[in-house]
Amino acid sequence: MTATDLSTSTVSERTAAHIATTERYAAHNYHPLPVVLAQGEGAWVVDVDGRRYLDCLAGYSALNFGHSNERLVAVAREQLGRLTLTSRAFFNDQLGGFAESLARLTGKDMVLPMNSGAEAVETAIKVSRKWGYEVKGVPAGQASIVTMEGNFHGRTTTIVSFSDDEVATSGYAPFTSGFRRAAYGDIASVAAAIDDTTVAVLFEPIQGEGGVVMPPEGFLRDLRALCTERNVLMVADEIQSGLARSGRTFACDHEDVVPDIYVMGKALGGGIYPVSAIAADHEVMDVITPGSHGSTFGGNPLAAAIGTEVVAMLEEGTFQARAAEIGTQIEAGFRPLVGRGLVDVRVRGAWAGIDIDPALMTGRQMSEALMARGILAKDTHGSTVRFAPPLVASDDDIALLVNAVTEILTAG
Ligand SMILES: *Cc1c(COP(=O)(O)O)cnc(C)c1O
Repeated sequence: MTATDLSTSTVSERTAAHIATTERYAAHNYHPLPVVLAQGEGAWVVDVDGRRYLDCLAGYSALNFGHSNERLVAVAREQLGRLTLTSRAFFNDQLGGFAESLARLTGKDMVLPMNSGAEAVETAIKVSRKWGYEVKGVPAGQASIVTMEGNFHGRTTTIVSFSDDEVATSGYAPFTSGFRRAAYGDIASVAAAIDDTTVAVLFEPIQGEGGVVMPPEGFLRDLRALCTERNVLMVADEIQSGLARSGRTFACDHEDVVPDIYVMGKALGGGIYPVSAIAADHEVMDVITPGSHGSTFGGNPLAAAIGTEVVAMLEEGTFQARAAEIGTQIEAGFRPLVGRGLVDVRVRGAWAGIDIDPALMTGRQMSEALMARGILAKDTHGSTVRFAPPLVASDDDIALLVNAVTEILTAG
């Protein structure tokens, strides 16, 4: 498939009608690009006018395995026809196998399944606090959790309580207490934020929403050592960085670091269905007792069937290897643009953040220019754009992305 050149076209009536209805009736909590998608296969999506686009956002990495992945769709279809929801009041024949396989993938004793990423983060916070009181011996009601500057962990009231993003927090006070922020990538800052009440350090091994920001080499290892020394849980939010995106199963693998709690979501549901989970060893997970936490949909058989297949695909290792290859190609394509339109490029696996010279254009303008060339991507703040194509993207697909960015920067 090739991209459609949209540079001379305008929005069709059909597209305009879909946008108008959506904007009229759906709350304006997003500012989407003016494209209305109707189909997807692999790394490509098609809009209501039949135009094709290379999807370089991939549902914020929920679509690591591509749109309409054959294996995942087949499993989901099969399960849809058999049993979709039981509630955890009863056992179902899918959850055990899913939990076993995800425990094996993470190397942890147990998993706790939820649905959205934010719910998994909330779960990690609750488990960490309970562990703090029952195992570490923190005085009742005193538990503190250290988080990072520039973090993104979701949208619940507790989670935005430790965000430093003005847009995400404004108007939502009062906030949940018990959180302190440290400078991302600065181990001395993290150490200074920890005291006897600290139960966990919650961090992203790579900050995706922040613009694919990586801590300095060695930070994850230092953080592991610090958490062990201070008897604090190391809680890795791998919702976006995990499950092959970075070129390894988990971004923590790049420094051979094993956190105490893995937080997973997005790609765990294969882009088909929301599936999230945390994984931890008994010492941590055993604080969870019947009734102390739950979810109507968490661990349902449809989610479990899809999640089991996702884990099976990850255990083959091919998606991780492909992500690393894509990263090499993106790095080679984008690196020469530094100083020629780009201020900085950060690449880890099939995941890249570019900082455009703000004098040239905003990230939004770059996204619009890319869309006109048949490539969909999303800016984050200011002049930063991140790229996360599905891991089934071909070399030609990636070349298309690299050439488009190069042309836009050099033409501007
Ligand atoms: C997307 C994301 C979340 C929140 O996941 P939702 O499914 O949107 O609730 C949490 N943490 C990170 C790192 C994310 O990228």
